[in-house]
Amino acid sequence: MDTAVRALTWAERLRAVGLRVTQPRLAVLAVVHADPHLSADLVAERVRKQIGAVSTQAIYDALKTLTEHDILRRFEPAGSAMRFEVANHDNHHHLVCRTCGTVTDVPWVVGSMPCAVPDDTHGYRVDEAEVTYWGTCPACARAGTVTSS
Ligand SMILES: [Zn+2]
Ligand SMILES: [Zn+2]
Repeated sequence: MDTAVRALTWAERLRAVGLRVTQPRLAVLAVVHADPHLSADLVAERVRKQIGAVSTQAIYDALKTLTEHDILRRFEPAGSAMRFEVANHDNHHHLVCRTCGTVTDVPWVVGSMPCAVPDDTHGYRVDEAEVTYWGTCPACARAGTVTSS
């Protein structure tokens, strides 16, 4: 039941931006929605578990198209694979663990846009800021896998 409702919603979102509703696109959306910040490889793996044989290229194409149409948001921590999440335009920032690569969402400061207002905008009209905080996640800190270097 829940799946049917969600599929309808995604289908409507696809149609709203003029995209054809295809099984790979729906599966990609379901997978990314269920578990945000997956790499393309992991998305491909899980989509295949859901709908069976579909080429990696088809899944990469779906990710690219959905990102271009602002249904998915792409995020690329330095030195790491691209991650995907559903674009909900809340401009949240990311915490990334240097040790295990876990990504956690953090909301930006409500009511102010401290990071979106640099001292000098060089003439740009800034409307969005993307901030990545790097550190060590609690699990890695507990495991003591952090090197002091
Ligand atoms: Zn970690
Ligand atoms: Zn996120």
